[in-house]
Amino acid sequence: MQQVEKTHFTVAIAGTGFSGLGAAIRLKQAGFNDLVLFERGNDVGGVWRDNAYPGAACDVESHLYSFSFAPNPSWSHAFSRQPEIYAYLRECAERFEVTPHIRLQHTVREAHWDEARQRWVIETDRGTFTADFFLPAVGALSDPMVPQIPGLKKFKGKAFHSAQWDHSYDLSGKKVAVIGTGASAVQFIPEIQPKVQKLTLFQRTPAWVLPRWDSRFSDRKKALYAKIPTLQKLARRSIYLRRELFVLGFRNPSYMKLVERFARRYLKSVVTDPALRAKLTPDFRIGCKRILITADYLPALTRPNVDVVTHGIREIREHSIVTADGVEHEVDTIIFGTGFHVLDLPFADHVRGRDGQTLNESWKGSPSAYLGTTISGFPNLFFLMGPGTGLGHTSVIVMLEAQLQILIGALQHMQREKLDVIEPKKQVQDNYFDWMQQEAQGTVWTAGGCSSWYLDPNGKLTSLWPHSTLAFRNKARFRADEYVLSQRAARPNQAPLAAE
Ligand code: NAP
Repeated sequence: MQQVEKTHFTVAIAGTGFSGLGAAIRLKQAGFNDLVLFERGNDVGGVWRDNAYPGAACDVESHLYSFSFAPNPSWSHAFSRQPEIYAYLRECAERFEVTPHIRLQHTVREAHWDEARQRWVIETDRGTFTADFFLPAVGALSDPMVPQIPGLKKFKGKAFHSAQWDHSYDLSGKKVAVIGTGASAVQFIPEIQPKVQKLTLFQRTPAWVLPRWDSRFSDRKKALYAKIPTLQKLARRSIYLRRELFVLGFRNPSYMKLVERFARRYLKSVVTDPALRAKLTPDFRIGCKRILITADYLPALTRPNVDVVTHGIREIREHSIVTADGVEHEVDTIIFGTGFHVLDLPFADHVRGRDGQTLNESWKGSPSAYLGTTISGFPNLFFLMGPGTGLGHTSVIVMLEAQLQILIGALQHMQREKLDVIEPKKQVQDNYFDWMQQEAQGTVWTAGGCSSWYLDPNGKLTSLWPHSTLAFRNKARFRADEYVLSQRAARPNQAPLAAE
């Protein structure tokens, strides 16, 4: 007999990066086993699967940039490289038995709340599914942004984004243009610089750079972490607390002058040419944009085959890039290190709430979610790594795990009280948004004198959490009186929310 494919689930998750997998693991541990994860790619891993550019690594120490419930004593370095983080996520999916729940190559095209049936309808390119709860876990850095520079389509050479690196393409001996000087570009530039004939770096804004002090973990240390897990926990805690101290500076920008002085001294020690140093010296307070942590980037820029161009790009021609000063730079290859659609998250155009509005339509340019997680008008939706959960100083997994606590708290409460539908009270969400904006006043992100994607087009700090993660963890508890909770009309064949 042919098996009928299951199409309704208690929980549907879109994405299998850190947040999708973390949610699935925590849900299973709490006994919620009726779940499905839709993944558009052909493997788990999210940004750590996609961002496989040379030199890709994490600028937060691995002891902290990993699940607190799944420490990995085998990290090879203090700061892990992409292949190791990707392998860690694959291993977590297997170890915590999430893999059987995953539907690979299922792109979520649209999801809407069906008010009549009080459930989510999720359209994928491989069929339609329904779920009581929907968890977008797509991350803010999932859709590469390639700027629409005039003439780009006419370019006859090779062009790709750092998140879509073409490893079959040999850069040896090529004249390569890199556009962008963000956290990705500073990692791949030192890797490709020795190979290419000429590297022209098109810099719009110089970034503050601090050296990364990486170290390899000895076999003895790894064995010790495996044998005495408390040691690794202590290491994690000490990294966590040290990084939390940065928030004092972010919230009191004048304190950052000290850090800035150190960064300036570091720049001077590496870049001895005053003209190049001037180009690389930012004119905003350190921390306003993401601080770049790398020991290889600035040295690479001092090499003779590198040219840093600071004039804006006017147009791209068949074999060159022309800058605003009229200079034509000949190139064979363009690599875009230009970041992602963060503020105009494409996924948010395809999720519709009770009124039929999309998330982007309801946000009107200023994304908002109560505790970064739940959204009025979008019942039974838990947005992982949602608006206002980004960080500039520490591991986002800390924020994710706090969000998962809200999720599990809510589901357990609903199960106990036999409730089916939840959304935050509008006033609670609005007050929270206003509180966040108040907290953002005077911080380095709003007063640091830079232009960054931390601020949305309305000038609100909506992608970043404006405080310590300790403060978020403290707030991130499920409190029933902050939500509108209800029962759905009983229907035949409708199982109540059940933990198995
Ligand atoms: P990004 O930080 O958004 O940087 C994009 C770069 O491209 C910036 O230098 C930007 O200049 C430039 N740019 C954008 N549009 C441009 C245009 N039209 N013309 C010229 N330049 C343009 O992107 P990213 O480097 O990919 O990093 C994105 C995020 O990924 C980071 O903030 C971080 O959260 C994450 N990441 C993390 C790690 C890690 O180690 N944990 C590593 C890599 C990435 P402006 O500064 O002038 O806007």
